[in-house]
Order: sequence, then structure tokens, then C-alpha cells
Amino acid sequence: MSELSERFEPSTAKPDTGGEKVRCDACPVMCYIAEGRTGACDRYANQAGRIVRTDPLTILHHAEERGGEVVPFLDGTEDWDGNLVNTGRRFVTAIGAGTTYPDYKPAPFIISQEVEGVDLVTVVTEGIFSYCGVKVKIDTDRHLGPETATVRANGEAVGHVTTAEYGSQMLSLGGVRHLTGGSKAEGRVTCDTLMTLCNRQPIELKIDDGATVIVEAGKAPVIDGKQEYRMRVGCGSATIGMFATQWRDLVDEVVVVDDHITGVVSEHQAGKVLGWEDTGIKIVGRRSTPGRYFKVSEPGLGWGGTTISDPLEILGPFNAKKGAREGLSLLMVSTTGEQFGYYELDHDLKPVEKPFPERLRKSVELIEDNCEPALCTVLFMGGAGGSLRAGVTENPVNLTRSVQGLKTYVTCGGAPVYVWPGGGITIMVDVTRTPDNAFGYVPTPALVAPIEFTLRRDDYVRLGGYEAEIRTVEDIVARGGEYLNERAGAAAPAGNEWPPLQQLRRDRGR
Ligand code: SF4
Repeated sequence: MSELSERFEPSTAKPDTGGEKVRCDACPVMCYIAEGRTGACDRYANQAGRIVRTDPLTILHHAEERGGEVVPFLDGTEDWDGNLVNTGRRFVTAIGAGTTYPDYKPAPFIISQEVEGVDLVTVVTEGIFSYCGVKVKIDTDRHLGPETATVRANGEAVGHVTTAEYGSQMLSLGGVRHLTGGSKAEGRVTCDTLMTLCNRQPIELKIDDGATVIVEAGKAPVIDGKQEYRMRVGCGSATIGMFATQWRDLVDEVVVVDDHITGVVSEHQAGKVLGWEDTGIKIVGRRSTPGRYFKVSEPGLGWGGTTISDPLEILGPFNAKKGAREGLSLLMVSTTGEQFGYYELDHDLKPVEKPFPERLRKSVELIEDNCEPALCTVLFMGGAGGSLRAGVTENPVNLTRSVQGLKTYVTCGGAPVYVWPGGGITIMVDVTRTPDNAFGYVPTPALVAPIEFTLRRDDYVRLGGYEAEIRTVEDIVARGGEYLNERAGAAAPAGNEWPPLQQLRRDRGR
């Protein structure tokens, strides 16, 4: 967070009696900004006695066809003369648009453009989200911390550990209680953490009684200083199912060590179908179904997300009556294929590690090859509250109904969002699909995120939209808006559909 916001203290913000300061009304902080200075959030400045939005309004150009050549038409440093190429698929995002908060007036830009003969309107505004959060998915086998453990950034509680899913650990960060419900420092650090994550920057998170993780959207996690490379191919049982045929006739027994479900091929259904012989093996753990064991160890940073570094720890004595014999061969491997070992039973039926045989290397590499790269995924989650909706229509609930009825397409910086079923307009967006630095903050504290609503013009008018405020894209490119917005063009991130066309197709398919 900027030095300015550190210094920010709302109660001391006083009008300048000399009349040189101008009041910014873009958020409840209501800064008085001196000539040539920015307000507490750095997003607005006083330029020659007028409040201006400091970041340029970002207008995306979409390639003609998905996967086609992307043609950037401005590099961000050039001034826009308003007459450049690619007048076709432009999309005015809310990045740099400004906001109407509190929404006693229409959104900063309400734009019409014709798509395949249909007039579509896009309402853009930078939403102020005091109650937002992020959901983080960290692809890892390692145990990061107990469920519900507090997650900290710079010593402040910013969220908690939620469920461990298949090969991933989920974190829930932000939300009302950390942003606005705790101490001032907690709110500030939480806001800073969310913004850093949403703008795809790395941040270090410490989990109580757990690991320290460096999280960056779209990058592999670094856990206790160690970079993660692979996401598990599946649990131990799934791994057996996938690769049992590869091991047949190469080794007498395979154990896939895994914190969730450890698999044993000779007992597993997959092994039985292939005619695998009994080996008299005993696994120390809770047997679920044949060849599938829970709780072979506590969760940890070792083999397959367990605490163990020597896999033999999970084996009990081999039973000669059930098939164990001297020379019986055993492969032990983890669910990412990163750890593996080869053993043979000695005269006393004790497994002894032997050099890893070449014949098994290919099948172990196959596990590794089937693992996807470990990544951190960051989803911004926020609710477009009644106030924000009032900037779109005079009757805010109509917007909710329109979104829920698929008549309005919601985007975040041009990126498609997932709209939760149920009440309100609660959205989630993958931050890797949004343009660079799409997120800002205000020191209330709250995150500022772009949000755009695209719908047919007649639908917009019908739901009580601000018809008189509708402008063309050309006009916006030429003249900007109330905050003297500079304009900058950029290529739309790959894979995002052009929102007006996407909505038109969706509308036609309804
Ligand atoms: S914090 Fe930013 S948006 Fe809020 S009043 Fe100050 S300059 Fe304006």
C-alpha cells in the first residue's frame, strides 16, 4: 500500500480555506486534494483545479477470431489521436473509468455499439468492494496447515485455510471480517494482500502452525522456500488404477504412498483384474477397501503429502503365509513420481533398498509426465451491491434480475466472470484473465475492481437504465469522461471473448 494511504487519516481531512484544494467524491474518504497532488488512493489527482482519474481508461481490442492475430493498437506510452486502426471489436473496460460511489448518479461510462445489427449497451464503473475476498487454490501435495488455521500476511490475519481438495489446498482470504471487522492494521494489510494477489504479484503468506507460502497467480507456489513443480496425478488409489498395467510383470508389488489414499497394487481391484499375486504386504494405516488405505501418516511435507521421508515406515511385517518370499520385488512411489524407491525382501522378509532398475524408470517417469504443473490460482470474489447497481439503473433490483436471467453479461476488465446463483450479483473472476493492474484500492479500506455490464439497449432502457447518458465508443475515445480520463488501448488478453458478441450469442441462444 502506498505511503500516502499510510499517512491517510480521514478525521483530519479538512477543506482548504484558500480554495486551492478540490474535493474528490469518488469514495467515502472524500479527500481534499491540493493542486498537482493525488488523493489517498493515488487514483485521483487535482490537475489545474479539476479532479482527474490518474490511470488511463483501458480500451481493449479483440482479435477478429478466437486464436487469431492480436493487434495492439497503442503501446500505452503514445498519445491517442482517436483515429487509429481497429475500430471493429473495441471494448471499453472500467479500468481507469472512475466510479460513482456512492451511486447517486449514473456510472461513469454508458456506451452503445452495434454488433451484428443489434444495439448493445455496456455500463462500466470501477466498483468499490468493501466486502470482497479472494479464493486461492494452491496445487500441492504438501500439508500447508490445518483446516481453519489463520493465514497471515505481515503478521496480520488476512484469511484462513479451507478445504484440501484433490491435489490442491484452498485458502479463503479477505471478506468482511478481515477487511472491515478487525483492527485498522488488519484491514489495511488485508486490502494490500488482496490487491497484490489480484494484480498477479507475489506475496508471502504464513499459516498458523503450518507452512510459509509464496503465492502468485499463475505461478508455482513456493512452500517453506521450496518451489513446487508438479500437481499430483491423483490419489494413490487412482495412480494404481492408471498405471497398474505398466507395472505388470516388471515388479511384484507397488505401493503408491499418499496422505489421502495410499494404494497397494496386489490388493487393489486394478491389480486383481490383472491377476496380481498376493505378496503378504501389510500397510500400517486404516484400510478402506481392498488396496486402499487412509491415514498411513500425518499430513506433512514428505512423500505424497505425508510426514514420512522413509516410505518403509508405513509397512508392517511381510507375511510368508500370504505370499511373501525372499527376493520379492517392491516399488514405492509418490503421487507425483518425484519420490520413488526399489526394494527386495531379504532372507528375513525385510525390504532392502536396491539400485533403481532401469525397467521401472519409464513407468515412474510416466507418473511425472502425467502430472500437471503446480500453479496458484487466484479468484477475485465480490458482490455488486445495491449502491453499485444504482449507478446502472434507477431500479437496482432490475439489474440483479437481468443478470440472473442471462440478459446482462458481467465482465471484470473484459474478463468473463462466474455469477453465483442465489440472491445478489456475486461474481468470481480468474485474475489471470484480467488486464495488468486492473485492481486498485481506497483506504476505507476496500478493493477497487473494474466491472462492466453488457446488454441489449432495449433491455437496458426497459430495466430503468440511464438512457440519456448513453454515448458511443467513438465519442468516449474522442472525449473521455467527467474525470478527463486519458485513454489507452491494449490487446485483449487471449481467450476472452469480445463481451458484446458473447452476450449477443448468449441472448440469441436463450
Ligand atoms: S481515497 Fe481516492 S477515491 Fe477516495 S476520495 Fe480520496 S482520492 Fe478520491
